[in-house]
Amino acid sequence: MGLIQDTLETVRRRNAGEPEFFQAVTEVLESIEPAIQRHKKYRDGRILDRIVEPERQLIFRVPWQDDKGQIQVNRGFRIQFNSAIGPYKGGLRFHPTVCASILKFLGFEQVFKNSLTTLPMGGAKGGSDFDPKGKSDAEVMRFCQSFMTELFRHIGPDTDVPAGDIGVGGREIGFLFGQYKRLVNEFSGVLTGKGLNWGGSLIRPEATGYGAVYFAQEMLKTRGQTLQGKVCVVSGSGNVAQYTIEKLNQLGAKAVTLSDSNGFIYDKDGISDEKLAWAMDLKNVRRGRIKEYADKFGAEYYAGKRPWGIECDCAFPSATQNEISGEDAKTLLDNGCFLVSEGANMPTDPEGIEQFLAKKILYGPGKAANAGGVATSGLEMSQNSMRLSWTREEVDQRLHRIMITIHKNAYDTSVEYGQPGNLVMGANIAGFIKVADAMLDQGLV
Ligand code: NDP
Repeated sequence: MGLIQDTLETVRRRNAGEPEFFQAVTEVLESIEPAIQRHKKYRDGRILDRIVEPERQLIFRVPWQDDKGQIQVNRGFRIQFNSAIGPYKGGLRFHPTVCASILKFLGFEQVFKNSLTTLPMGGAKGGSDFDPKGKSDAEVMRFCQSFMTELFRHIGPDTDVPAGDIGVGGREIGFLFGQYKRLVNEFSGVLTGKGLNWGGSLIRPEATGYGAVYFAQEMLKTRGQTLQGKVCVVSGSGNVAQYTIEKLNQLGAKAVTLSDSNGFIYDKDGISDEKLAWAMDLKNVRRGRIKEYADKFGAEYYAGKRPWGIECDCAFPSATQNEISGEDAKTLLDNGCFLVSEGANMPTDPEGIEQFLAKKILYGPGKAANAGGVATSGLEMSQNSMRLSWTREEVDQRLHRIMITIHKNAYDTSVEYGQPGNLVMGANIAGFIKVADAMLDQGLV
């Protein structure tokens, strides 16, 4: 067996029952093989064996009381994966499916993504199997306070800086920050995604969605095209989906779908700014289901389905992992879709990726296309350290420049390794080399 297969076998054995983690490691390791073959130093330094093992994994009990006075117990996690190029950085996810496998896959991806942003950030991920859906604000606050009561001792502005992810938005970051501040007696940039009047950055809420669209623009430029008039299918209806649609509208594209875990809506006239504002209020304030959009605007609703069967030019998966199967990918391609920009993390399964690469469509993998979120978190950290705030335009311009650089870096690397336009390979190798070189420089870490 070759080195890659040997390493994968060890990963499988050592992380039994963790399919998402194994899937993410397989995708990265198989695509960076040319770099491992070209550079003896990575083989001699056993970088592969080292990079697939998290530096530290924390698992803890989170007890809290619900509104009826009943005691509830959830499990909390923080996977501090790699700190070779900066303090650990990565989101917190609150969702009933959260487990070690999902957080290790996300933490592993985060290492390469953060490296691609050009900013000095290591990779981490954390969260809990707590489900904020259907909970009162007071219950969410009590849960967040209990979660932070353990997490605070493991994080810090120069150690580990968590952010949001699925189920963790501005409300949750507020409760988490408040508790951290009480425990440590310090007002510091320990979390990103903070409110604007207490250390947050303009454009951070928009950043992941805007970034995925900027990345799509860069991919289109390589074929002399723009987003003007393109029909776009978007999944999810949370933070990433909402701002993806806002930016698509600004650039003259037409977004026609939104989804949640119950189904999707299809609005063939396009989700205008007015309809989007209504949907944002529905999801962020009233915390309702996307079906209500169909009832309100007379759009079509498909219960229990994902939107990949709708005819489109471009797809922006923005909900969750493995939401595009091999079969879904085939449907998208058969219907003429020629661009996929992944706002979500690992939304396309291995069979789907294989088809996108084989058909040579414009395919932007999550760790490159959705890196705008963490990049802008990095900008929030810089502003906190300098104790100043940049304007909206300034942050947006920096985000845009970073997305252009990430695309160029991934594209140039794909050319250098003989597969022009294969951004899976380009992003993985470019992200890997920076981290691997830093690990070698720092001795046996
Ligand atoms: P939100 O919690 O704001 O929204 C998530 C959306 O996805 C909701 O509409 C949710 O529906 C839907 N969803 C979640 N799980 C599932 C599921 N198992 N099946 C179907 N639909 C599902 O999260 P974000 O928008 O922040 O995150 C979306 C994706 O983007 C995730 O993959 C995340 O890791 C990734 N990402 C987010 C970043 C950020 O800055 N927020 C940065 C980079 C990547 P429902 O309400 O029914 O649960």
